[in-house]
Amino acid sequence: MAEVDLTSVGKVYPDGTRAVTDLNLSIADGEFLVLVGPSGCGKTTALRMVAGLEDISEGTVAIGGRAVNRVPARDRDVAMVFQSYALYPHLSVRDNIGFGLSLRKLPKREIRQKVDHAAEILGLTDHLHRKPRNLSGGQRQRVAMGRAIVREPQAFLMDEPLSNLDAKLRVQMRAEIARIQRDLGVTTIYVTHDQTEAMTLGDRVAVMKKGELQQVAPPQELYDRP
Ligand code: ADP
Ligand code: ADP
Repeated sequence: MAEVDLTSVGKVYPDGTRAVTDLNLSIADGEFLVLVGPSGCGKTTALRMVAGLEDISEGTVAIGGRAVNRVPARDRDVAMVFQSYALYPHLSVRDNIGFGLSLRKLPKREIRQKVDHAAEILGLTDHLHRKPRNLSGGQRQRVAMGRAIVREPQAFLMDEPLSNLDAKLRVQMRAEIARIQRDLGVTTIYVTHDQTEAMTLGDRVAVMKKGELQQVAPPQELYDRP
């Protein structure tokens, strides 16, 4: 777990598109921050810079006090969950969740324990032997989250993780995500264009518009601005 700090962060893509301007944001240790705003406002770009997946054009992003652009990719301790689950179809749920740990060559017994623990948190214990094609959308989403949390990352980053689910499942998974984040206590940034999702999930909500931060506040203190 760690604090995430963005200081004067900006992004200009190689084609000259400015996606993010002077973004200043501190996410406390264990906090759940939702980044919300209309499509194209720069949410994904901001998140990808935190993840170290995108070059930072201006300013700095620090995780646990270390600037991410100075940390080699393999040492970066963040986990990201996308809307497309990208599960390995030929692997069981257990092996999908444990995949990153086996790459790290952890002892088999330790991997087993960690996967069992993640599965318990995610309600997947009875599905560990299954293949992704035999799971529901919500279960697949949980496996993707399992793969992320099993690594015990310093920060947990989610980009519209529920957008492929139907409305009913989305509401259900929203509650699950809130619970899981509380259980783990991991610093979380959650990107969505859905205002209801933002209001129900975040400890604080950061509203972006045209690449800039409009306001940051707990959900009950947010106000509408034209
Ligand atoms: P959001 O996640 O809020 O929908 P994005 O971060 O995806 O916003 O995009 C912000 C802006 O940057 C948009 O104008 C988008 O078209 C542009 N953009 C995103 N990726 C690239 C890229 N690889 N090259 C150029 N422009 C991009
Ligand atoms: P989002 O769901 O965040 O709005 P998009 O559908 O806008 O994502 O973008 C999908 C992919 O296309 C991303 O990898 C993004 O970086 C890239 N992209 C978006 N806009 C542009 C652009 N103007 N030029 C090049 N790539 C872009």
